[in-house]
Amino acid sequence: MISVEEALKLILDTTPLLGMEKVDIITALGRVIGENIYSPSDIPPFDNSAMDGYAVKSEDTKGASKNHPAVLTVIEDLPAGYVAKGKIKKGEAIRIMTGAPLPQGADSVVMVEETEASGDKVKIFNEAETNQHIRKAGEDVKKGELVIPQGTVLRPAAIGMLASLKRSFVSVYQRPLVSILCTGDELVDVDGELKAGQIVSSNSYTLASQVNECGGILLLLGIARDRKDELEQKFREGLRADVIISSAGVSVGDYDLVKGVLQDLGMEMKFWKVAMRPGQPLAFGTIGGKPTFGLPGNPVSSMVSFEQFVRPYLLKMQGHTRIFRPVIEAIWQEEFVKKTERKYLVRCMVSKKEGMYIASSTGEQGSGILKSMVLANGLAIFPEEKEVIRAGEKVKVQLLDREAEQQEVAEY
Ligand code: AMP
Ligand code: MG
Repeated sequence: MISVEEALKLILDTTPLLGMEKVDIITALGRVIGENIYSPSDIPPFDNSAMDGYAVKSEDTKGASKNHPAVLTVIEDLPAGYVAKGKIKKGEAIRIMTGAPLPQGADSVVMVEETEASGDKVKIFNEAETNQHIRKAGEDVKKGELVIPQGTVLRPAAIGMLASLKRSFVSVYQRPLVSILCTGDELVDVDGELKAGQIVSSNSYTLASQVNECGGILLLLGIARDRKDELEQKFREGLRADVIISSAGVSVGDYDLVKGVLQDLGMEMKFWKVAMRPGQPLAFGTIGGKPTFGLPGNPVSSMVSFEQFVRPYLLKMQGHTRIFRPVIEAIWQEEFVKKTERKYLVRCMVSKKEGMYIASSTGEQGSGILKSMVLANGLAIFPEEKEVIRAGEKVKVQLLDREAEQQEVAEY
């Protein structure tokens, strides 16, 4: 039996990086970019007005005031999207809209609120400073600048920036194809008829959702009976994926055949048992170089093992560097008694109270109690050597879901 930390190291030391693919920038949201993006031009590409108003020569407004306005001749009307036909000469102005290119001869923009128009004349009530209300070419991005470095996770702002840089397609790391096989004679798919002794294969659905959440592409292999030939055949089908995941049959029961089948298929077993609860049995190794995770069958063990080991693996493959859930410190709310020698990952609800996080158990912690996982937004981490965690103690909590921190009411 090895520690969670050792298991994680063994797994992540062997994680390969997937190749790149070119995708359109809408599809690229949330993906990791595989190239450095330099700007081919200045953004904005030209000096332009930051206001609706008048483009002027600042020297023409010297001494202007409410009582003694400067009076200029308006020679043109310039909306955004067009270039001025004329050039401003002494005593002239061009009416200009936000985003329109600064006309030649102008060095300043006066906002419309500080003016009064009548006929082809405009009164300017304030002195204009040189360069006021002008957005300079390149003030956002300079030509040649590294704007989005390789390895960046693409968020909406980056997608918009790529569009500004005229990049409709970019290279991102590929998504892994992940096969999922649930094993057990007792299992029936969700719409199947449940005979005596049978249960629905809920793991098929939690695991598929977890893979989806990490950006994997699903290769669903369905359910295999606890029979060597059937398991072997299904696993062989799964080998065309980048990552193979199975659930159940990996413990020490009479019908736990998964480990043996994986070994028959040539699996190089890296480890089998991890000192954690839930989720002790977990076979990890490679078959012909393909990473294979034999997860435990109990619904919460399967989910929590996926969280700890498969999720970081899938994220790392896709070029992510922040591959772990955030861990916060919270005040534990009630006494919890545990056995030593195993790390406990306790399903809990974290909330904020007077600027502090507090956490309490979401109920029964048996590895088959999925309900307490449904209610949980975190896993409290109780170290191996601890026997009792007392109310009021500070504990570390892995946040599974930031949804719980979203607010019902806007706050500024
Ligand atoms: P096993 O590791 O095969 O002994 O399974 C451990 C427990 O997990 C048993 O109670 C199984 O019935 C249950 N189990 C196994 N596979 C699934 C599954 N796909 N969905 C829900 N429960 C499962
Ligand atoms: Mg079984």
